[in-house]
Parts: sequence; structure tokens; C-alpha cells
Amino acid sequence: MIGLISATSAGAAARDRLAAAWPERTRVYEGPVGDAVRAAFAECEQLVCFLATGAVVRLVAPLLGDKASDPGVVCVDEGGRFAVSLVGGHGGGANELAYEVGELLGAEPVVTTATDAVGMPGLDMLGFPVEGDVAGVSRALLDGEPVALEAEVSWPLPPLRVTAEGTYSIRVTDRAARPADREVLLRPPSLVVGVGASRGAPVDEVLELVEGALRDAGLSARSVAELATVDAKAQEPGIVEAAERLGVPLVTYSAEELAAVDVPNPSDAPLAAVGTPSVAEAAALVRGGELLVPKRKSAAAVAMATCAVVRRPARGRLAVVGLGPGARDLLTPRAKAELRRASVLVGLDQYVDQIRDLLRPGTRVLESGLGAEEERARTAVAEARKGQAVALIGSGDAGVYAMASPALAEASDDIDVIGVPGVTAALAAAAVLGAPLGHDHVSISLSDLHTPWEVIERRVRAAAEADIVVTFYNPRSRGRDWQLPKALAILAGHREPTTPVGVVRNASRPDESSRLTTLADLDPATVDMMTVVTVGNTATRRIAGRMVTPRGYRWQAAPNSGSAAGQEGAE
Ligand code: SAH
Repeated sequence: MIGLISATSAGAAARDRLAAAWPERTRVYEGPVGDAVRAAFAECEQLVCFLATGAVVRLVAPLLGDKASDPGVVCVDEGGRFAVSLVGGHGGGANELAYEVGELLGAEPVVTTATDAVGMPGLDMLGFPVEGDVAGVSRALLDGEPVALEAEVSWPLPPLRVTAEGTYSIRVTDRAARPADREVLLRPPSLVVGVGASRGAPVDEVLELVEGALRDAGLSARSVAELATVDAKAQEPGIVEAAERLGVPLVTYSAEELAAVDVPNPSDAPLAAVGTPSVAEAAALVRGGELLVPKRKSAAAVAMATCAVVRRPARGRLAVVGLGPGARDLLTPRAKAELRRASVLVGLDQYVDQIRDLLRPGTRVLESGLGAEEERARTAVAEARKGQAVALIGSGDAGVYAMASPALAEASDDIDVIGVPGVTAALAAAAVLGAPLGHDHVSISLSDLHTPWEVIERRVRAAAEADIVVTFYNPRSRGRDWQLPKALAILAGHREPTTPVGVVRNASRPDESSRLTTLADLDPATVDMMTVVTVGNTATRRIAGRMVTPRGYRWQAAPNSGSAAGQEGAE
């Protein structure tokens, strides 16, 4: 819960905007400010105070305990210009919250924690449990001192500015080691514990068995990703509670699925009880991996539980990220976050240039020139298969005439794929032109590099006959100059010469230009590869210099009637 505290009416107005935007996440504290801050500090994970930083410092100072448990505190000034992360930047999530509040109120987030300030992830913000000298190693990273990365388990980490050797080190391990001096241990969620239990098995017996197995094998409980068992045991209290106490999810599989897993120690008892010769080993191994602890039984006189431990294969992470048409503010926040999450970036050199300043120090950039699409797709997938966090970028939306399809055609289900949509050139151009896409529309690429012209022509013809608004991508290059006139001629066979045509070059880029003309008047020589051309349908009109395609004929005929047609079209 986020506690909200304000003193003045301006503060209260901003506070109410937050409360309205996040009704589930926030609680308003009224009354004298001192009491409100103290109550919220005791009851909430985070506070947003619409008060001067000085006032908040004085109020929270006596309440502070330690940074692992204190709430994160963000201050917003009277004018709503700044959202200051004051206390609990990482552990309390105040840095993150300052960004969120800033976004919502249009305030500048102010973050002074060193790692965030220079664009490096805090070691305690990587999403993994950490142990050891977090402050020392973070400082070394910041100061550019050599920090070695030892990955005993390869896992898709965000970029860290690391070297092969150093006085400081970061070790990625699921082993139960203690951190050395000047060392941080990162615990990847690499272990799966399979468990089986007879009805009524006590939670303590299950837990002791699991903890004993991990201890004897020298493994860290903090790397356990999940407990796994058979569907029939999904409600077994001893197993459910053991997962809860370990703080991990319980996943279950059907008996058939488990019966199909090849295990070293099958037995008859579970086969009779739940229909699979192995529960613990099979549930741990069902998604593949290395069996570190074969089935063992609990130590009770009549053993009621079994467990087995598997190290699952690292799954790489491939984010396919659309950068939008060019302007930085048309790059979505999610795309930005994925660019900073990746330790390997793959893309066309000119697109890499567009976002290079956003990358975290230590990001490995694999850029290549025009035409190397297949190679880029293969590289991105190969890096993800090695267990890396990879971002494959494209302009506009990366799935539209771009890298997503060749990459996913290469990929198998051994990596995670995250798609981040982007604003396409067609949408950016439409916004410049007016509302040309108000009714059904298609995009057609006129590049016959990978598609035979007959196919392109058939599609243009179909769009012409179906009276669909068409946006032409890749409309014309030095070597390809007859395709656009040909395509326009096909459309002209079904549309008036006066049909509006919008030409937008470099939409949203500094040298953006646009022209609204007609099918009869368009001069193809003014079109190049930085351009999209949008041709209206038979209902598209030029209105006050803008290109407008009505949402439907009935809609147009009865704009104020409140008729069924009007409602049907309502958003
Ligand atoms: N994935 C991109 C399209 C890549 S194909 C998208 O979703 O938009 C390349 C073609 O897109 C160019 O030849 C041009 O026709 C068009 N294009 C890309 N960016 C553009 C922009 N900012 N303005 C106008 N056209 C653009």
C-alpha cells in the first residue's frame, strides 16, 4: 500500500490525482501531518508526501530503522514539478516510485542513488536475491574499478560493467557458498524441487526433507524457483505450506505427463496411488535439466515425503522491441525498459544510433548494415540460446516488415520471447495527415526484393476492389521506380482522380515533411524510401487541409441521430 500525505490544497489536488489513478494501491492519510506520516510509515510499504523535503526529513528521521525494511519515501513539491526519491531508493522502491509518480503527475523524477543516476541497475534491483558486499561492489562498479563476473550458472542478467578479473567480484551461483570479502553472490532461480507426499504428511517433515536435501548437496534455498508435484497433490497441505514457507510457487503436472518422464528411481507405490511411477523426480525433471539430488525420503520412522532437486537449464530472453518511427517520445516506456534490461543488443546500425544513449554501460552491441536481416535474426536467437538477455530492435513495430518474423522462425521453445509493440510508420504518418485510417485499411510493401511483383499486384488489386485505404511502405527507391505508378494506376481504376493521397516523409523525425495531394496529381518523383504513401478510399475527403476517412456511410448519414448505427460505431 502507498500512503498519501498532504498539507495544502495544491498538495491535496495532486494527492487526489494519484489516489484516483491507483485506487487499489493507495490510501489517503488525513489529519495533522505529523500523525499522518507516522501512521503511514508504520502501515505502508511506501509513502508519497506532498510536502517539502525538509519537513519530511524531520518527520521520518526518528522513525528510520534499516534500509531493508523501511518504507520507500517520495516527496512531491507544492508546484508538482519534482518527485524526489528521499529514502529507500532501492529496497523501499522509492526510485521506481518517483519515476511512476513523475510520469503520472508530469513531474521530473529526482533520483540521487548513485547507480540509478548513472544508468546502472542497483545490484539489489536485478530481481535476484543478493548476498555479500552489495555496497562495496556497487561502488566499485560506479568508480570503474575492475569487477569480475563469475557465472557458475549462466542466467539472462542485465548489463553489468564487468571484467574477467578484479579485486571485486560478482558470482552468479546456486551453491550454498558464503560470499568472500568484496564479493556479491547473485542467486538465479535455477533450482526446481520435486516433492511427493502421502496424504496428511506434516509440513515440517516436507520442509525438513527439502532443506536437508539442499544442505547436503551444498545448494542455496534462495535459488529455488519452485516446488513441483503431481496434480493430485495440488491441495496437499504439507506441500502447499512448504512452498509458502519457502516463498516459492507450487506448480503441478498431470500423472500422464509425469509418467512419461524418464527417471532413475521409479517405484510402485506412487504408481498405485496417483498413477505415475515417479512424482518427485519426474516433477523436477519434466521441463528438463540436471538431476542434482535423486529421490530421497524423509527421515521419519514412516517416511511420508520424497523430494528431488534439479538444476533447470537457463532460459535466455529475447525481447523484440519496436523503437517507433523516430521521435524519442514515441518510443514507449516499455521499449525503453527492455533496452535497458538487455545485456546484448542486436540491430541495424542506424537504429542502434537512434537509442544508443539509452543503453546501460556494459551492453554488448552487435550492429550490422542494411541487408543482413537473416544474419541479425540468427545472431539474436543464438545469443538468447546462450542464456543471455537480448534485445532485437526494429523501427516502428519490430513485427511489421521487420525482424520479429525471421527471428521467431529461427527460435525454438527453449528461450523466452517478449514482444514490445511500437508505433508504426503508417500510424505516425496517419497522425500527421489527419484521420485517413478511420475505416478499414491495409499496409502493402512495394518492395519486390523478397516478394514477387505478381503477388504484390494481386494484393493491390484486391484492396482496390474492396475499397480499402492503402498505405504503401517501401514505395520507391532509386532502382525501383515503376512499382508505385503501377500500384496507383490499379487503385485509380476503382477510385476518383480526386481521391486524397497523403505522402509523409520521415514522420516524427526532425526533417519530417508531408503533402496532401490526389491520385491524379501525385508526382512519384517526390516519393522515396523514407516515405509512406496513404491512398484514401472512395469516401475519404480533404477537410480543412486534413485527410479524413469517415467511419462508415451510415455513421456519416446520421451523425446526431443516436441511432443503432451511431451506437455501433461508438468507442
Ligand atoms: N517496421 C517499420 C517498417 C519498416 S519497412 C514500421 O513498423 O513502420 C521500411 C519502410 O517503412 C520505409 O521504406 C518507409 O516506407 C517506412 N518508414 C519507416 N519509418 C518511417 C518514417 N519515420 N516516416 C515515413 N516512413 C517510414
